Amino acid sequence: MFPMRRNRSINRCLRFTRAAIALAALGALYLPDAVQAQKKQGQRMVDPVAFNFPGYDKNGDGKIDRVEWNRRGNFDLLDADKDGYIDRDEMAAMYGNFGKGWKLLNPILPDSSPEFDPSVQIDLVDQPTVGRKSVCIVSRNPQCMDVDALASQAGLMETGLGPDFPANAFCLGVDETFAEPYTDKTGKGMHGGIDIPADFGTPILAVAAGTVVAKIEDMYQVRGKAVILRHSPEDTGQPFWVYTEYAHMNELPTQAIGQRVRMGEVLGPTGNTGVKPGSATSEHSRRPAIHFAVYYSPGPKYFLGQKYVFPRKVRWMDPHGLYRQRAPFDSQSHKDLPDQEKAIAVPVMYVDGTTEPKDTKLIWPYACRRTNQPQ
Ligand SMILES: [Zn+2]
Repeated sequence: MFPMRRNRSINRCLRFTRAAIALAALGALYLPDAVQAQKKQGQRMVDPVAFNFPGYDKNGDGKIDRVEWNRRGNFDLLDADKDGYIDRDEMAAMYGNFGKGWKLLNPILPDSSPEFDPSVQIDLVDQPTVGRKSVCIVSRNPQCMDVDALASQAGLMETGLGPDFPANAFCLGVDETFAEPYTDKTGKGMHGGIDIPADFGTPILAVAAGTVVAKIEDMYQVRGKAVILRHSPEDTGQPFWVYTEYAHMNELPTQAIGQRVRMGEVLGPTGNTGVKPGSATSEHSRRPAIHFAVYYSPGPKYFLGQKYVFPRKVRWMDPHGLYRQRAPFDSQSHKDLPDQEKAIAVPVMYVDGTTEPKDTKLIWPYACRRTNQPQ
């Protein structure tokens, strides 16, 4: 279905009712462990190593070298035997041990008396105002002409950027990179974000202060349950309006549309919601992971479709580019950076709630542990 018409249920959500505020207050009761236990039962899952390893092992020698790993993060941590390669067993650790015991010691839970941002209603415009081009760039609907080329011109291209976590941090890294060819997996030409595998229930964090602009629940599409935040230039320190999207959640956030969230606030538990591409049912077979996407706009205006948010003059960004926090911001420039500048120093929040660096306005969407401290 082409998302030209405003969804009535979303419109209803936009009224800041008492019910929404009461719902947000329930966030204080949020228990990711309970969700985790419940959702782990009875799910058939494809083996993510068997699924991804052959694609990464480009020369087919049965092991992945540093170049083949392509800056997905944590190469040295994953290469447990220090032989310079990630083998299948070592890669399995990314989907096994990495997500275990990932508990927040001081979680920032949704505020029981939340602040609402009236500008999300003021800035909400109709589809003609944002234009069909923006709709096509974000949705990549096959009805759009040359949609892959259009999205690519708007920044959806492989940049080669990757995360470089603080030296003593143990963070969840990336398996599926930005704009990698994805047709066989999703039916869309290129991957519109990065995927970070994590165990069921691992708390997903708001990467910056922002406002909830959409909550999407459609089990018959690829992203499943998702939330989209809008961040003003003041929220991120960057000279444009940023949208961050978090998908495949096990449960939607309890925060209401229009509610302000703080950097590091828990949005909900990691899951694997969304259908397998090409499947007619809501069969859950992907590994649990967050799909994290970033796009941006020079101004605050946006149109809300049924499944997407469409900012005016929208551009895609490799999420790593957001953490770079300096110009140039466009994907072509990111792609053209010299190799040594493509490993992006990612600011993080630790499970105890402290951040590195201390004064950051942005963090990775999952908390990190310190490798030099007992767990
Ligand atoms: Zn993804």
